Amino acid sequence: AELDTLDIVVLTAILLGTVAYFTKGKFWGVTKDPYASSFAAANGAKAGKTRNIVEKMEESGKNCIIFYGSQTGTAEDYASRLAKEGKSRYGLETMVADLEDYDYENLDTIPSDKVVMFVLATYGEGEPTDNAVDFYEFITGEPAFSLDNEPLLGNLNYVAFGLGNNTYEHYNLMVRNVDKALTKLGAHRIGDAGEGDDGAGTMEEDFLAWKDPMWKALAEKMGLEEREAIYEPVFGIVERDTLTAQSPEVYLGEPNKMHLDGTPKGPFNAHNPYIAPIAESRELFNVKDRNCLHMEIDISGSNLSYQTGDHLAVWPTNPGEEVNRFLSILDLDSKRHDVISVKALEPTAKVPFPTPTTFDAIVRYHMEICAPVSRQFLATLAPFAPDEASKAEMTKLGGDKEYFHDKINVHHLNIGRVLEIVGKGQKWSNVPFSAFIEGITKLQPRYYSISSSSLEQPKKISITAVVEEQKLPGREDPFRGVSTNYLLALKQKQNGDPNPSPYGLTYEIMGPRNKYDGIHVPVHVRHSNFKLPSDPTKPVIMIGPGTGVAPFRGFVRERVKMAQTGQTVGKTILFFGCRRSTEDFLYEKEWEEAKSVLGDNFELVTAFSREGNKKVYVQHRLKQRSKEINELLEKKAYFYVCGDAANMAREVNTVLAQILAEERGIPEAKAEDIVKNMRASNQYQEDVW
Ligand code: FAD
Repeated sequence: AELDTLDIVVLTAILLGTVAYFTKGKFWGVTKDPYASSFAAANGAKAGKTRNIVEKMEESGKNCIIFYGSQTGTAEDYASRLAKEGKSRYGLETMVADLEDYDYENLDTIPSDKVVMFVLATYGEGEPTDNAVDFYEFITGEPAFSLDNEPLLGNLNYVAFGLGNNTYEHYNLMVRNVDKALTKLGAHRIGDAGEGDDGAGTMEEDFLAWKDPMWKALAEKMGLEEREAIYEPVFGIVERDTLTAQSPEVYLGEPNKMHLDGTPKGPFNAHNPYIAPIAESRELFNVKDRNCLHMEIDISGSNLSYQTGDHLAVWPTNPGEEVNRFLSILDLDSKRHDVISVKALEPTAKVPFPTPTTFDAIVRYHMEICAPVSRQFLATLAPFAPDEASKAEMTKLGGDKEYFHDKINVHHLNIGRVLEIVGKGQKWSNVPFSAFIEGITKLQPRYYSISSSSLEQPKKISITAVVEEQKLPGREDPFRGVSTNYLLALKQKQNGDPNPSPYGLTYEIMGPRNKYDGIHVPVHVRHSNFKLPSDPTKPVIMIGPGTGVAPFRGFVRERVKMAQTGQTVGKTILFFGCRRSTEDFLYEKEWEEAKSVLGDNFELVTAFSREGNKKVYVQHRLKQRSKEINELLEKKAYFYVCGDAANMAREVNTVLAQILAEERGIPEAKAEDIVKNMRASNQYQEDVW
């Protein structure tokens, strides 16, 4: 039917009104991570690509878009897995999209025969991930209904899964709030809003348990037929016979083109690390089999800056032994230095690393090959197993939660080890390499709380990292962390060992084309809200056992520097705990130095858990100081907790509420509310992991 002029006028008015409504959220003043804008600037490189999701879906023929809000790559991973499964099992035309790459004003124009999925991680104190900040502000900042009472998003079908950690106060807040906001806007959720719990270690199983009923509900709603899933590669591997690993255009681990050309420039961020010289590195523990590193990273050659309390992201490389194991079991030994290009076989897929490159470089610098494997991934690999027995075993592992847990999880086996064990050493030469690019997370930077003060040393960042090691039953070699053992190798090299191999692990520490020679490490800075009060006379109470003391070293040094330049600083109390005063007492001498400057205004309270006949932790010491803690809080002291999220941070929270209840003679529920309010007003701050 033809529209008459009046119709068009009315429609245009409605459309403009809707656009205005939807645009408003964007400008509602909410403080932004200053970092977000530099992300956006870096993404200017994507100029020419549309930010219009509806247009994008139309031009690429998609009917299912999966948005992710991801900080450490897991949410992004799950998004890709949903995309794959939707395509292979239900023939959906799926695409994965970074929330930061699109605008949301026209979510209301997505037709009702399409579906939008949201895979959203909650970060830190119930915050959105960096790439989801704008979306979150937008979607939660809208009025519920348009003027004519039509639900704004009445057409929108959506699916939601959240990634959270129950040890944090705001468990899965992102997905909960986004789900609430979407429902309020009239959108229709399909299936439950799923919640994965990293705190309980059940993220993967929560995801698997959520997705099957969701697919069923979605299939029903959209009238989809389930079919036998056949593996369809998302990426094509092209052998580049005319190139060798020496050809200048071949990436050997360089993170982007600027690094390849030898002209890396800022902004340095999560897409572009600064190759920083390590000025100094040393061991902090006095024991043989445990290590804790202090490293000073020089950022003077870059435009990077930081503030006391920020985080440093370290970009690790995988240990040679695991790279070898992985390449060998895939029968890629002889091809490891062959040059290949990786091409996305469908327009919305992104190759997660620059090419042309080599298998060696991909595996060493870009894939999280040491990480836990997913049960679903093993099932995907079953059809490509070297023989019937391994095929059956992979299918069983993929399908049986308990069996998988006992065989794989408890031993912390990575993918290379799983394939070795299941195939009894036979090569897995039939698996398309694309399956690994799709199924293994991108190698992620690790964050470290900065342990220096920017007032004292604005161009040098220090970190305090405990080297990750876990002895596991039924496994000969302990599990060893990727990033911290790499840092340990760098430290050994800096301190005179030309061929460091901590615990038998070796690293390509000179980096691609020896570009990291002279002891360099790729890093970027992530700004955080964990900050000293702007008024230095305010008292501060800091709880930081173990490496949780890292940011407080920065805080204390900052106050020392202030005092030395004539400023008055308030009472500064630090609760520190470790096993023994003789083994892992971090920065013992430095606290004495601080005391000599700050005098009675600084106090260190220690808890050594293995020295008495009863274990004593920081929260016990806190309790013993109830009266004083309460008095300081009445004087508006700031309260900080850093370190272990799973137990310590929670218990400190509980103890603080007990202290307030007892000292102020109020019910515990009331005291808990006070603590909540302290958190909301930033008087109580956490930096926990
Ligand atoms: P990884 O290899 O990443 O392993 C880490 C853990 O993952 C293992 O212990 C294990 O539990 C699990 N895991 C890995 N692979 C497997 C597998 N195959 N199977 C089963 N489980 C597996 N650390 C500090 O020491 N100091 C700090 O100041 C500090 N600050 C931080 C601040 C923030 C905001 C965050 C988020 C973290 C911080 N961390 C800090 C922790 C740090 O980022 C790293 O997580 C830590 O150093 C371990 O890194 P890794 O690469 O050595 O270990």
